[in-house]
Amino acid sequence: MHEIDAAVMREPERLSYESVQLEEPKPEEVLVDVRATGVCHTDYHAYTNQEIDCPVVLGHEGAGVVEAVGDRVTAVEPGDHVVLWVLPSCGHCEYCSSGQPYLCPKHTETRGRMPDGTTRLRGDDGPINQFFAQSSFASKAVVPERSAVPIRTDVPFEIAALLGCGIPTGIGAVTNTADVGPGDDVAVFGCGGVGASAILGADLIGARSIVAVDIEPEKLDAMRGLGATDVIDASSTDPVEEIHRLTGGVDYSFECIGRPQTLEQAFESLGRGGTAVVTTTKDTGTFEIDGGAFPRGVSIVGNMVGSIRPRVDVPKLANLYAEGRLDLDALLTDTYPLPELDEAFDALRDGDGIRNVVRMA
Ligand SMILES: [Zn+2]
Ligand SMILES: [Zn+2]
Repeated sequence: MHEIDAAVMREPERLSYESVQLEEPKPEEVLVDVRATGVCHTDYHAYTNQEIDCPVVLGHEGAGVVEAVGDRVTAVEPGDHVVLWVLPSCGHCEYCSSGQPYLCPKHTETRGRMPDGTTRLRGDDGPINQFFAQSSFASKAVVPERSAVPIRTDVPFEIAALLGCGIPTGIGAVTNTADVGPGDDVAVFGCGGVGASAILGADLIGARSIVAVDIEPEKLDAMRGLGATDVIDASSTDPVEEIHRLTGGVDYSFECIGRPQTLEQAFESLGRGGTAVVTTTKDTGTFEIDGGAFPRGVSIVGNMVGSIRPRVDVPKLANLYAEGRLDLDALLTDTYPLPELDEAFDALRDGDGIRNVVRMA
């Protein structure tokens, strides 16, 4: 049993910074000394969700060092630097077996628990739920072996933490879900963490036009630095008209906000044969599209965490960063010590910055 520091949520929107108990890893589980954890909209959603099962420790974008491994663990060993991947997967179902672990149904069954239905966290008054089989707003975490992805040791932990969910969701939407090619025209709606990552991904591949759409001039300015060739302030300009004027209609559009109106605009911005990728579905609800558009060969596709195969794609992203070809430093706005997680959530709610990270020490 380990005594660890954790941000425990005992009721929605209230965190207490406590010392809690963490059990040893069971077979096929890994104990990780957590160094940094990304603060993501998915955490904020849970933080403000009145239905969430409390007590719980949030945090699903951790990075750290393997401290101990349970029986039958073969993929990592103590001392390895690991990214804690957001979605637990089983490794056996038809999706895992066909290289699509992001579609594994296991993660929806296990939200709030480890894959065996239990939790490794305990407070004085009983078990504490384990968010996404991870709970990395804590000094240590026990995770399934398949969620611990080893990467090179020269990537700073606050950057490694960004590789656990949000940034791969945006980059992978471009590289894996959509298969954007060199010379393609791309539009990105919404320039938060996922949208900014989609722009980085499109630049990496060599897209021809990369049009960024947002309503905050400051964010749009920052997108130019990431590779956007054109920016559109949708509060004063109709983005659909402007995208058609600039590109004649894009090959790929990425909706990175999760609203019906922007999804409709992303669809209407397509040229012939174009594909609109719905990267996130926060408040998408029901949307309206003109069925008469389909004879132009257009399509709409969903995106589950960038169709990322963690052990294949996450080390590649870490390599590109370390070799100076993927500017993840530009996406990291602020770091907060763990006891200031509330403030990091306030910043997220207020839309301050692109990505923020909590440091454990
Ligand atoms: Zn599976
Ligand atoms: Zn996330």
